[in-house]
Amino acid sequence: MDLGLHGKTAVVTGGSSGIGLATVRLLLGEGCNVAFCARGAERLAAAEAELVAGFGADRILAEAVSVLDPDAFGGFAGRVLDRFGGADILINNAGQGRVSTFASTTDEAWREELELKYFSQIHPIRAFTEALKASGAGAIVAVNSLLAHQPEPHMVCTSSARAGIQNLLKSLSVELAPAIRVNSILVGLVDSNQWQRRFEGRDDQSQTREAWFADLATKKNIPLGRLGQAEEAARALAFLASPAASYITGAHLEISGGISRFV
Ligand code: NDP
Repeated sequence: MDLGLHGKTAVVTGGSSGIGLATVRLLLGEGCNVAFCARGAERLAAAEAELVAGFGADRILAEAVSVLDPDAFGGFAGRVLDRFGGADILINNAGQGRVSTFASTTDEAWREELELKYFSQIHPIRAFTEALKASGAGAIVAVNSLLAHQPEPHMVCTSSARAGIQNLLKSLSVELAPAIRVNSILVGLVDSNQWQRRFEGRDDQSQTREAWFADLATKKNIPLGRLGQAEEAARALAFLASPAASYITGAHLEISGGISRFV
């Protein structure tokens, strides 16, 4: 199936690692121009160098910018539009999870988490709305978590924020229609830098990576028996962002290996 992505311009936030980087790579492979950002300049430059080596520099724009800084992000958006003449796709992927119970979440942590979850959607969407409207095939896809529908006791604050984001995205799918489609993926456990960090901090340092991830999949009762790969999330994002999903908006797709317990 041709996804119809060739020649489109895509923006991916948090594109230097994990799901974001896999999505940048996939969209470049499909013939898109891709602009991406992340905060850490060094990791971003390494990702950019790898992508330029594979795809050439013409279709790539990378900038060290936080989605939480509206002025800096607005500057980035302006440079994307100058360079590529518009934008058709916005993938809101930047972020991370927070491990905390209600008892262990301070007011400051609540504010930080709500700011990250909400403004990582609000700033990029605001910056690109007009361009996406002008596209004729504008699409926003957010990377959210299954925690939005199925909270975990050790991730109370982040789960609550994730639920709010699903609600916001539903509103946007109506407010921005018919010009822009708005969808999301709900990620379960995908092997990325976040899980690599937890693996590196494991209690038993003699345990191999393979054994630690296999144990994790067993403990979490993942029906497909393993964590997902970043590329598996990227494929769902590319589909929802593409003209092949032209009649889908306000929807979410689970990328979880079947871990959800609701119907
Ligand atoms: P990674 O840590 O591998 O990638 C996160 C990316 O986001 C990095 O490029 C990071 O770069 C960037 N980022 C973080 N904060 C900001 C910011 N304020 N502005 C711009 N870029 C930022 O993690 P994943 O690939 O796993 O995560 C991708 C998304 O998926 C996240 O939103 C995460 O919460 C979500 N998710 C992941 C799950 C999983 O199991 N992997 C489960 C559920 C949801 P830098 O730090 O340099 O800014």
